[in-house]
Amino acid sequence: MGQVVVAGSINMDVVATADRHPAIGETVAGREVLYFPGGKGANQAVAAAKLGAATMLIGRTGADAFGRDTRAFLSMQGVDLAHVREIADAGTGTAVITVAQADNTIIVIPGANALVSATDVSASVIRQGDVAVSQFEIPLPAVTAFFARARAAGAITILNPAPAMPIDRELMALVDILIVNESELSLLAGLELHDTDPDARFVDAASTLQTDHRPNICVTLGRRGVIALVDGEVHLETARLVKAIDTTGAGDCFVGAIAARLADGHSLQSAIGYANVAASLCVQRMGAGPSMPTAQEVSDAIG
Ligand code: AMP
Repeated sequence: MGQVVVAGSINMDVVATADRHPAIGETVAGREVLYFPGGKGANQAVAAAKLGAATMLIGRTGADAFGRDTRAFLSMQGVDLAHVREIADAGTGTAVITVAQADNTIIVIPGANALVSATDVSASVIRQGDVAVSQFEIPLPAVTAFFARARAAGAITILNPAPAMPIDRELMALVDILIVNESELSLLAGLELHDTDPDARFVDAASTLQTDHRPNICVTLGRRGVIALVDGEVHLETARLVKAIDTTGAGDCFVGAIAARLADGHSLQSAIGYANVAASLCVQRMGAGPSMPTAQEVSDAIG
């Protein structure tokens, strides 16, 4: 069984809830403030670890209270933090989120995440059979160096290009599996997509990303499920009918679950079915990191 190695961001999400959002310059009384460990890298690592994969995270936090809290949370979930460096010259990444009337506003301060470097990733050990996962919340040179190492070692690479920005040819050539949501696909393909569009339109958009290199592509479509191009074949997975409470982290859960199943030797096609069930459990709970399901919960849901 391989290991899941995630290079990515670690944040504290500070969520303030209120009856309405303040206007510019206005102060409103809020209801409560909640703290959720987050960051796409950390969320994906927690998802993989809770599903039973040996999981290592490569990243940075500040030497502050949010750094201590996020590290404590991650290690309680079973994530190996040997390659998470604590640094004194930046704060831990923080997302300040306001939630009112079912809408949110988010300000993300990258902090220590912006300092993750190619040197950080070169210290880690990646072997054949491992699964390397990254996103765009750490600098691009670190992501590229990480995938180059993983490819050389014979590991599978998974890129979740979020927040969305164009992927250069050098990086794309190192990607085995690309996992995008609808808005990321829209930006990468340069097409306006809507969640009511027919499946064929998403398949066409995903195909435009397979130019010189032909990574397998999963497009997550929220309550519609997943459309994937696996070895040139279209694969559809309908979402499970559940009552969604909070979809934060659903995409991260999906990515972590795919990585965990591939590290355990399953095919991509079967990993997609499994990840679709795992993500449907995630949307039924609040928060990102804490809402990731365990392997037992997923197998109970599969029945
Ligand atoms: P998204 O990032 O919103 O595309 O969601 C990622 C994955 O989470 C989807 O592909 C589904 O597997 C699952 N998911 C998201 N929203 C829902 C929902 N309302 N009901 C069931 N599953 C969902």
